[in-house]
Amino acid sequence: MPRFKQTMFKLLLLLGCVLSVISLQAAPPAAPPTPAAAAPPPPPCPDISPLHVGPLKVEFGSRVSLDQILKQNPNIERGGRHRPRDCVASQKVAVIIPFRDREEHLEVWLHYLHPILQRQQNDYRVYVVHQHGDGTFNRAKLMNVGYLEAQDDDDYDCFVFSDVDLIPMDDRNIYGCSSQPRHLIAGLEKWNFGLLYHTYYGGVIALNKEQFLKINGFPNNYWGWGGEDDDIYRRIVYTGMSVSRPDGKVGHYRNIHHERDKLNQANPKIRELLRGARRNMAMDGLNHLSYKVLRTTREPLYTNVTVDIGNPPPP
Ligand code: BGC
Repeated sequence: MPRFKQTMFKLLLLLGCVLSVISLQAAPPAAPPTPAAAAPPPPPCPDISPLHVGPLKVEFGSRVSLDQILKQNPNIERGGRHRPRDCVASQKVAVIIPFRDREEHLEVWLHYLHPILQRQQNDYRVYVVHQHGDGTFNRAKLMNVGYLEAQDDDDYDCFVFSDVDLIPMDDRNIYGCSSQPRHLIAGLEKWNFGLLYHTYYGGVIALNKEQFLKINGFPNNYWGWGGEDDDIYRRIVYTGMSVSRPDGKVGHYRNIHHERDKLNQANPKIRELLRGARRNMAMDGLNHLSYKVLRTTREPLYTNVTVDIGNPPPP
């Protein structure tokens, strides 16, 4: 190779090396794969939901099938669960319905309550506690079972117990708990939108965990219709608590009219039991509760707990 060409070749070689060193040094280090930026947690839900519509038209004229209700409520998870998407609710609520053979009423209840509870931005699940067999109905014991089974299922702050035939007429009537046990009914249609007596504590009530434990849950020994709600009211008073209710029309309810169930005849022992309410509170309640769950199923719009709660003691 002529001398000039040799020199040029060497120069080019040198230049190539220098350039490749520079480019090696300049190359940014291979970046580790960046994880997608974590979405910030949703904010707490506002104290007053912006989705409320206020007074509602409640009518029991036509039947709505479970399929239709499901279509109208696409955001309900199997088992009857819902939580708001854009915010975190302050309480997790178990809504518990003592139940037997009232499918038609349950449809009406689900039809009205799921949309209401969603508009309240409520984080909730619905439990239907179904008394197995054809023994005498025991509403309070079923509600105790609902409490324990719901507790086993999830970490709830608040328990709303509702009869299946009661529908609120205003969605600002919040299905949640407050600093005192709550009675959600301020006026019932069948009593001209009043209450039969001031200490009435039936139909739809809400207690948080602490309040419920303080009264040892509900009495288990009221078989048949009546008295158990008066006993629960006494427990609340005996433990130094009081009952709060929504104001005026916000607490109005419609009730589905029906005959009294044959297996839920008036309890002849109401007076006697109520006389012993204070004494019984410590012995009869959550601490002495025996039952057998036969089946728990996640239905599309509620969780069903079928339970054998036994029979009343012989007279
Ligand atoms: C019964 C309650 C019942 C109320 C309203 C009372 O006599 O003891 O259990 O809820 O009447 O019907």
